[in-house]
Amino acid sequence: MNKKKIWLSLAHMGGEEQRFIQQAFDDNYVVPLGPNVNGFEEDLEKYLDQDIQVVALSSGTAAIHLALIQLGVKAGDEVICQSFTFAASANPIAYLGAKPVFIDSETETWNMSPHFLRQAIEDRLSKTRKTPKAIIPVHLYGMPAKMDEIMAIAKEYNIPVLEDAAEALGARYKEKKCGTFGEFACLSFNGNKMITTSGGGALVCKTEEEAQRTMFFATQARDNAPHYQHSQIGYNYRLSNVCAGIGRGQMLVLDNHVARRREINSLYRELLKNVAGLSFHTNPNKDFKSNYWLTCIVIDSAITGFTREDVRLKMDSENIETRPLWKPMHLQPVFKDAPYYGDTTAEKLFEHGLCLPSGPGLTDEDIERVARVFLELVKG
Ligand SMILES: *Cc1c(COP(=O)(O)O)cnc(C)c1O
Repeated sequence: MNKKKIWLSLAHMGGEEQRFIQQAFDDNYVVPLGPNVNGFEEDLEKYLDQDIQVVALSSGTAAIHLALIQLGVKAGDEVICQSFTFAASANPIAYLGAKPVFIDSETETWNMSPHFLRQAIEDRLSKTRKTPKAIIPVHLYGMPAKMDEIMAIAKEYNIPVLEDAAEALGARYKEKKCGTFGEFACLSFNGNKMITTSGGGALVCKTEEEAQRTMFFATQARDNAPHYQHSQIGYNYRLSNVCAGIGRGQMLVLDNHVARRREINSLYRELLKNVAGLSFHTNPNKDFKSNYWLTCIVIDSAITGFTREDVRLKMDSENIETRPLWKPMHLQPVFKDAPYYGDTTAEKLFEHGLCLPSGPGLTDEDIERVARVFLELVKG
């Protein structure tokens, strides 16, 4: 294969990352705390631009885990979670011995359906006589969920919301940044997210007290004593000062990354605008401002004459990486016994949808090459 590989979403360094890492080495702060961790948290707080507190952690999954602990989720409890997502949204529910209840998506944002959310809460109440302990909506592929409706239902039933904003750094709903709506929100800085720390995440908290408690649990739950004393089970979940240095460098280019991913999305739309049977994951109206982390398409094969899988295989043969949309959690073997409320919207998206290469390091020529391969399939 002589054609250059086009990846789905590669990490893209801004240039300043190594300066912050070098500083960590120069100051001998090669440990899981230090000036880069504090600096990275402050950068994120400023960026999210609300009265919130950010605690940097080793992963987005760890952030969800610590949020659920603080929301009092215990073995046997139920937690409501968007079904159309990456497994990391739901796995921490199982870590706690709790049970996920999966909610389908609506067709506009592809995120948690307020209609099925309400139906699920009512049905769980009647079946178990208990309210679920938390609601986890996801801003999938950077598209904000219908937060007004979801927050209103959460308030009505007095259930806290844990926002999964792992893919949504830089996205906004009604001009408010994703990650600032819920009682807690998780961010991810894994390799292919909006920014990377090579691996890492953060928990966005509403109060100083929650932030302190998050740090407490993230550093082995050490009591305030001169010796090592523990009254609760803790975790080793803090982000290292070296990784946080990468994060500080990445924060300098975050706005560029968001702009470039949106540009790539517009370019795909322009290049593929005349294809019948092809639709894009699209902001439903001006209230929604996706960061377009990944450009996603849906193929109506009755019109196109080819399937999502035909596109994926053709791209693969041209050394272009694409990926089917997330397989809904209620269809995953590991969660097969979990309750599900919906009408197969997410299932259809999974069957017919594909993510196109969207990394900020891709050139216009790369995007044009992807579009050309797609158009060759259209021509047949
Ligand atoms: C990446 C991701 C996570 C988890 O983040 P990690 O940092 O990889 O643990 C959670 N939810 C969603 C939707 C994600 O895409």
